Amino acid sequence: MFKGLDKFVNATDFRKVSKWYIIVSLCLVIGTLAWGGYIFKDKIALTMNYHNIEEQAEKQGIDKSIQEQLGNLANSSADIKDVLLLDKDNNIIYSAKNSGLGKDNKLVLTKVNDKRQFFQDVNIPDTYFKVIGPRNVLLTKDVYRDSKDIKKEFDNDFFYDSNYNTQKIYFLNYFADRKNGMKVFIVNDLKPIPYAKVFIGFSAALLMLLFGLYWILVALWVYKDANRRKLNAPLWGLLILITNIVGLIVYTIYKQNNQTCYKCESLQNKHNTFCSYCGTRINKSCEKCGTIVTKNDTFCVHCGAKLDH
Ligand SMILES: [Zn+2]
Ligand SMILES: [Zn+2]
Repeated sequence: MFKGLDKFVNATDFRKVSKWYIIVSLCLVIGTLAWGGYIFKDKIALTMNYHNIEEQAEKQGIDKSIQEQLGNLANSSADIKDVLLLDKDNNIIYSAKNSGLGKDNKLVLTKVNDKRQFFQDVNIPDTYFKVIGPRNVLLTKDVYRDSKDIKKEFDNDFFYDSNYNTQKIYFLNYFADRKNGMKVFIVNDLKPIPYAKVFIGFSAALLMLLFGLYWILVALWVYKDANRRKLNAPLWGLLILITNIVGLIVYTIYKQNNQTCYKCESLQNKHNTFCSYCGTRINKSCEKCGTIVTKNDTFCVHCGAKLDH
């Protein structure tokens, strides 16, 4: 029944296979990371610039130079709908892209019905702002659980399901100058990135493939090894196939608690004098009392006599 499998594993050099597995996986993972870096390069640059500006604003407050940098940031990314600078009374004193957000040059955001992170200006009822953390500037429509998931979050909160499609949702990053109450609103309208979906699908498939291959390789190696040791190879192979690393540990401990016949490689009880499979003498007995000793013993376990091997 396992003849084909036996033939296959015996013809396989697992040392070579695992070496190539590691080399090829590393190349694929590095290549994929580089590809991802290329696809998301604009987003990565945006994230880094954003953090830079936020850090500076933290130190020196929101001033002209910060405003200038925010303008550059807004123009560097199509995802950014606008960057707004508001004074302490919520008057818009600067709009990087003149998007016309806000009414009467004001944007007063208040929390929507205790909904987590959703904000709204009462004067623009068809627009919602979902606040995202500073670390989430990297989000794209492809990575962010896209608008369907935002809808789900609304649904979970029994909120606005019926007119979801008529509403506009922007993502909002903000930071403030505590001294003068000025606020910076970075309004994102996340757009899909070309090839990002392909990339995410490909990386997930690659990871699964590599992981699956590793899983099967380990099981096949144990099957081959157990076969050589004249153990129940299908049983051990199946155990590894189900439990992987756990089974591998059990198998290693099991092997360590026994000994391998140097002639036929079968696994033998530590205290056997002769190999049960080929009859080779694998252990000695103490010359003084006759107790069976293993080749690793220096002293007889029964009488304590020094053994010479
Ligand atoms: Zn043997
Ligand atoms: Zn002895």
